[in-house]
Amino acid sequence: MAHLNGAAWRVADKPEDADLIIINSCGFIESAKRESINAVLAWRALFPDKKIMLAGCLAQRYAGEIELAEADCLFGNNDLAQITKVASRLTGNAVDETPVVPGQRPLLSLPGSAYIKISEGCNNRCSFCAIPLIRGPLRSRPIPDIVEECRQLIARGICELCLIGQDIGSFGKTANADSQLPSLLEAITQLDGQFWVRLLYIHPDHFPLDILDTISRDKRFLPYFDLPFQHGSVDILRAMNRRGNVESYLSLIQRIRDALPDATLRSTFLLGFPGETSADFQALLDFQAEAQLDWAGCFTYSREENTPAYSMKNRVPKRLAGERKALIEEQQTRISEERMERFVGRHMDALVEEAIDPEEGLYLGRLFCQAPEVDGATTITSDTQLAVGNFVTGKIVARAGIDLDMRV
Ligand code: SF4
Repeated sequence: MAHLNGAAWRVADKPEDADLIIINSCGFIESAKRESINAVLAWRALFPDKKIMLAGCLAQRYAGEIELAEADCLFGNNDLAQITKVASRLTGNAVDETPVVPGQRPLLSLPGSAYIKISEGCNNRCSFCAIPLIRGPLRSRPIPDIVEECRQLIARGICELCLIGQDIGSFGKTANADSQLPSLLEAITQLDGQFWVRLLYIHPDHFPLDILDTISRDKRFLPYFDLPFQHGSVDILRAMNRRGNVESYLSLIQRIRDALPDATLRSTFLLGFPGETSADFQALLDFQAEAQLDWAGCFTYSREENTPAYSMKNRVPKRLAGERKALIEEQQTRISEERMERFVGRHMDALVEEAIDPEEGLYLGRLFCQAPEVDGATTITSDTQLAVGNFVTGKIVARAGIDLDMRV
């Protein structure tokens, strides 16, 4: 969007007014691919005469293979700057470009929040994962660039900076250098202002423990960690090409909680990986019960071409994988509810995200323990008008399932 804006393109108010419809796709698991294709078909049915560009990961992964007459062109994600040329070739609109400033780019995130991509690609090569095929090897941005982007976003009134990458624990890693994530966080501490920094997706096999110091010292860094453990059976973890085990993962969790007693932990679990026996599944249930993570997202295995797991034997039937996923989700809901109970009665900061009914003083927001879109939310009631996209302080008065209620 930043590149297109720089070439004088603007988002149309209504699709009827658009010269070009861009569908940004996902391509790393079967359900996401299906959803992306269905989006193209649906928009083509609505607008038979408009130009449609299928952009993003699906286009990148299957360029040259996809036969999809409903899309006028495919645009991958290797060189985003090319989008202006492609858009102009497709529509006949002239290109007139100005350089892109990352901190000035349009934001599609929730009010007050921005994602900042600090690295692209991944060298981990988990055997089930197509992301390195799509996004390529790890490349990290220079620290000063990222800090400048953060500075500009804060100046624009952004309250929450979410640092993202396929595995931000690997940020800046090379054959000769360890993770530079601790240095990046230290550099961000130099910025003035009241803001949150949220770290998303750190591979638990190489968590850079040094970041715990910075996070303990500077309260603007949220004690929130998204650690995709994926499984609790060592045999499955090995087959996934992951080095950890239940002991190393529980010890990491303990180290984080020792350093930051309020730490909120999120994880991801993958069910139905080839060879997963009922004993493996039980090991995951036991790990989940012991780890007492605040949040977890569960997925069933998707068999992806050109990944090592594609040809693995003893595939788990989809129905069984689905049943296991439901059991993990059920146990997680109970754990999440109990974990959220600890916040009831406390005074906390929330980022106001939506005015549901301002006349009635009803708003929706998030606390440090709730990442955008993936975790629970906080319902806020206030006698005074609240500004969406800003912080507010209030008392957590109740828990409603996995969500919380705040009174300002
Ligand atoms: S660390 Fe994440 S992105 Fe990288 S290969 Fe593993 S699952 Fe895929």
